[in-house]
Order: sequence, then C-alpha cells, then structure tokens
Amino acid sequence: MAKIYYDDDADLSIIQNRQVAIIGYGSQGHAHALNLRDSGVDVRVGLRPGSKSIAKAEAQGLRVVGIEEACEEADVIMVLAPDQNQRQLYAEQIAPHLKSGDALFFAHGFNIHFGYIKAPADVDVCMVAPKGPGHIVRREYEDGRGVPVLVCVEKDATGHAWELTKSYAKALGGLRAGGIETSFREETETDLFGEQNVLCGGLSHLIETGFEVLVEAGYQPEMAYFEVCHEMKMIVDLIIEGGISKQRWSISDTAEYGDYVSGPRVIDGHVKENMKAVLDDIQSGAFAKRFIADQDAGAPEFKKMRAAEASHPIEATGKELRKMFSWLENQDADYTEGTA
Ligand code: NAD
Ligand code: MG
Ligand code: MG
Ligand code: MG
Ligand code: MG
Ligand code: MG
Repeated sequence: MAKIYYDDDADLSIIQNRQVAIIGYGSQGHAHALNLRDSGVDVRVGLRPGSKSIAKAEAQGLRVVGIEEACEEADVIMVLAPDQNQRQLYAEQIAPHLKSGDALFFAHGFNIHFGYIKAPADVDVCMVAPKGPGHIVRREYEDGRGVPVLVCVEKDATGHAWELTKSYAKALGGLRAGGIETSFREETETDLFGEQNVLCGGLSHLIETGFEVLVEAGYQPEMAYFEVCHEMKMIVDLIIEGGISKQRWSISDTAEYGDYVSGPRVIDGHVKENMKAVLDDIQSGAFAKRFIADQDAGAPEFKKMRAAEASHPIEATGKELRKMFSWLENQDADYTEGTA
C-alpha cells in the first residue's frame, strides 16, 4: 500500500521559514503562489518581463519580480513553467542562482526524470504534484479542503528534503486530502501513460472513432454526438463517485449486459499490446525525445496534429449542440491556441 501523509505528519513552520519563488503563473503557478501566501509563506512570483500574468498576480496582492531575481532571493524554487520550456529556463535563469542547500521543486517529474535538468549535487530536488488542475487546487484551498498531491524526493542533499516537501505540500493544502509518496520515475511514467492511453489519447480517439462509425453508417451526426460524447460526463461522474460498479449499477441491465459482451470486443488484446508499446516508448525516453525535439523546432508536428484534430467533424456538430446547454461555460472559446 502507498504511504500517505496528512496535515499532522508535516510541520508548516519549515516552509514558513524559507523564501519561496514560484516560477510561472499559469494553472498551477497561481494556485501554488496564492495558497502558500495564505498559509503564511514568504512567496515571490518570478515572471518574464512583459508577461500578461504580472498584472494578474499583482492584483492578487503577490509580489512579482523577474525570474532571475526571484531565484536569487529564494532558497526554495518551484518550477511551474510548461514542461517543454523548463530545460532552457533552468539553464539560463535558474541554475546560475542556485546555492548550496537550496531546494528545487517541480509539479511533474518530466525534466528531472528524463535528464533535461541536472541539478547540482548540493541542492534538494523535490516534487509536490497536485492530482488536479490549478483552479481546483485554489478553489478547494479557499473552501477549507484540498486536492490530493503526490510527494517525492529525487535527491535529498540536505538530509531534510522530505520534511521540506511535506511542509510545502501542507502549505498548498494538499495534506488536508492526503499526500501519496512516490518517486520521480513513477510519477513521470504513470502520468504520461495515463494521459496518453486512457484519459486524453484513449478517450478522445474512442469518442472520435465511435462518432465516425455511426455517421459513416448513415446516422445523424447530432445523434452520434449525444451517444458517444455528451453522456460521457455522467458515466465518468458515476465511476469517480462509486467505481465502475456504481456506474454499472446505475445504467440499465441492457447497457450493462452490452458492456460485458461488447466492451472486450472493442478493447481487445491488441489494445493491451498497443498500451504496452506506448509504455515502452515512455520508459525508454523515446516519447520525451520526440516531444522535445518537435518543441525545439517550433512544434511543427504538434501544431499540425492540433489543427487536424480540431477540424474533426465531431467538433462542428458539438459546437452547435452545446448551444442547447445554456449552463455550459466557455462554449465559444477558441481552444486551438493552447493555454499558456
Ligand atoms: P501553464 O501553461 O498553465 O502555465 C505556465 C506558466 O509559465 C505561465 O504563467 C506562462 O506564462 C509561464 N511561461 C511560459 N513559458 C515560459 C518560459 N519560457 N519561461 C518562464 N515562464 C514561462 O502550465 P501548468 O499547466 O500550470 O504546468 C506547470 C507545471 O505543472 C508542469 O510541470 C505541469 O506538468 C505541472 N502540472 C500541471 C497540472 C495541470 O493541471 N495544469 C497538474 C499537475 C502538474
Ligand atoms: Mg497527470
Ligand atoms: Mg501530465
Ligand atoms: Mg444511450
Ligand atoms: Mg444497472
Ligand atoms: Mg493544453
């Protein structure tokens, strides 16, 4: 069983006695900066000159400085820039300001695990990775609850890295819900596996394929959209609330019988073999290498795939149908430009 830490297992005063730099003010950055600040931690946010986030962070009462200045001042540096930018950011603006005994923190192990960032031997390397998007991490903290976090230490240079990591996780609100002990390797490889095979890659392509089969068989696209996409949320909510069993209990016996009979025909042995091959590419670093090489070249492959997927016919159908759901937010936002 995994080792899980709660508030009583951590000493908040440890992080309160450090100077923390939060680098980046996106999804995770804003939540970390605000939650730590509200937990009585000395926080400064490090941002690039001209960043649109400067005004946002200052409006929230945070102190914003340049990235290098933040790293110079701080002895705990949390790197919350996009994974593909962290290598260069680290080399040019963070590394020159690391001192013996400082701690480098991450919310995902990608750059450390795959060796894109190599920290000096006298610096702690730690992770506090919330199991949820930053906006939920902030909202839950404000409501007196927390989002569970993963905690791990890649390098305990000072002998106190674990106590520091737990203290940071407590300040973030994560230990109200629980902090699961893991390693950089396990977090990185399972995170990539989950998003590629199931949560993102698996799910979106399952939906698209189901839509294609129905429409190609002559059914109305609107019907296909409802049947293979819209109802997904209700099904997933049931699974999250009470497991796959609750979902199967809630659906009709017809649907449940069809699950047993047809599910294994779709998700057959080939799918398992394919997932193992994807895992091989994650473990070998081949996926990381391909992603970073493409990003370094200006992301031509990424942009091409993003544009192709955005023009899948299900997107046009969905855009019209979602107007029927007046309570859905952000219906007409442009999602093709990324978040940062
Ligand atoms: P984001 O894209 O929402 O925000 C990134 C921030 O970094 C922005 O403020 C952006 O302006 C800034 N930035 C962009 N390029 C930069 C550069 N070259 N130098 C300095 N700053 C730059 O990112 P995010 O989703 O918050 O992800 C940050 C980290 O958190 C990543 O390691 C990610 O894997 C991890 N993480 C994210 C989530 C999530 O739900 N979003 C969950 C867990 C972990
Ligand atoms: Mg993940
Ligand atoms: Mg991820
Ligand atoms: Mg149905
Ligand atoms: Mg049932
Ligand atoms: Mg995105």
